[in-house]
Amino acid sequence: MSKSESGPKTTRSAAGDIIDLCQQCENQLTTIRIPVDGNDLMMHSCDKCDKRWWKLAGEQIDLADALIEVKDRISKN
Ligand SMILES: [Zn+2]
Repeated sequence: MSKSESGPKTTRSAAGDIIDLCQQCENQLTTIRIPVDGNDLMMHSCDKCDKRWWKLAGEQIDLADALIEVKDRISKN
């Protein structure tokens, strides 16, 4: 297992659900899912740190890349 990933931590609730935690304060993150061309663009945000992470199809991406994905989708429709 690589430890180079800098995204949110994950843990599991008693019910078995995966919960994303802030890597800085371990606050539970708010997650928003945006479907983009059959993939899921996920935004994780921490209210405490005012920090956001973006993932596309499970891969962590930069905000700039996320915006490009969303823009491309909007312009196609
Ligand atoms: Zn935080």
